Amino acid sequence: MTAPTNPADMPAQPINLTSRALRPFGTTIFTTMTRLAQQHGAVNLSQGFPDYDGPSFIKDAAKKALDTEHNQYAPMPGVPALRKAIADRFTRDTSLPCDPDAHVVVTSGCTEAIAAAMLGLLNPGDEVILFEPFYDSYRACVAMAGCTARFVSLRPPAPSPGSIVDRPFTFDPQQLREAITPRTRMILINTPHNPTGKVFSREELTLIAELCVKHDLIALCDEVYERLLLSDEPHINLASLPGMQHRTLTLSSIGKTFSFTGWKIGWAVGPSNLIAAVRSAHQFLTFAVVTPLQHAAVVALSDEDRCVRPLVAELKANRDKLASALASLAFTVYQPRGTYFIMADHSTVSPKLGAKDDQDFCLKLIERVGVAAIPPSVFYNSLELGKPLVRFAFCKKPETIDEGVRRLQALRSM
Ligand code: GLN
Repeated sequence: MTAPTNPADMPAQPINLTSRALRPFGTTIFTTMTRLAQQHGAVNLSQGFPDYDGPSFIKDAAKKALDTEHNQYAPMPGVPALRKAIADRFTRDTSLPCDPDAHVVVTSGCTEAIAAAMLGLLNPGDEVILFEPFYDSYRACVAMAGCTARFVSLRPPAPSPGSIVDRPFTFDPQQLREAITPRTRMILINTPHNPTGKVFSREELTLIAELCVKHDLIALCDEVYERLLLSDEPHINLASLPGMQHRTLTLSSIGKTFSFTGWKIGWAVGPSNLIAAVRSAHQFLTFAVVTPLQHAAVVALSDEDRCVRPLVAELKANRDKLASALASLAFTVYQPRGTYFIMADHSTVSPKLGAKDDQDFCLKLIERVGVAAIPPSVFYNSLELGKPLVRFAFCKKPETIDEGVRRLQALRSM
């Protein structure tokens, strides 16, 4: 198209050409908050990405792959050695058999796996159950698939300003039962859970499994924080519970476990008919995933424990430092048992900034305190549930956390 030469041909306002499905979603909160943090020189505890690199032996493997002609399209389902590493790891975790040729697909991060699973498996009009707060892409993918989301709320324990509350967010089993209709086709479970830090218990997962079996639902499990466990609560793979092996897709990635969120190497594991559907969408979304980094991911997975142990130790130290600072400032801190996020209730603090809700609180926190966080109401269908809350990411260098804590002290004198 050539540019219009006559200014009269130019519309006064550019016309919004975004599809009906995507128009409600705008720009993601992560992009918005990171941009604001940069504009204001704020300590960025908003978007969940490490401000440090992952282990150097994995970077060396990537450089070697670039230098040894691993630079053309990878096979559509993923580099065979990576599929084998993923399959072996899944079997170690779950004791379930896993055939790298039939049961695995490598995707561009877990985010693509979520999209490919929904686009590959759902038909317009189907319903998908999401727990709120939900990671923002879930709802957008449900919309892109022409489907409807039904919500089940994860609710925090009662606030206790000035304390670190070590009880998890929970859901009402009855609300879950009532969310299931004859149109329900899929339920999405994210454990450990972003943003609440909840690790779903065996009891909760057993109830979910029973309902999946009873109503013939597909379970989509986003387990990208599976190795970031900060308490004794174990991570349980829903796929390993009775009746679930043949109806569960287990999604993960190397981004969080190895601190390479920018590499976008993720995957889905599941029975062959579910994986075939995911592959059928994946082949037309991205076709294949960046080849040299898949080779480096094989090296990463071959020495996972060596990477995870120090990372978890550092995350625990960061969590404890940030949690006690927030509690001492009269937030209610909901102790996370997994992930690298803390949810806190800001109701007793926000009046100091004259903030009316979470969005307002986060804007004023950037402008007046110099710390960026995420307003969680964007993760809720029932917006009211998110308004008293704020999410801080602690996957940052100790000195970044220290500087964030130092700046937060300004709230004392407001
Ligand atoms: N998963 C990260 C978070 O929750 C952000 C991912 C993104 O920026 N889209 O903060």
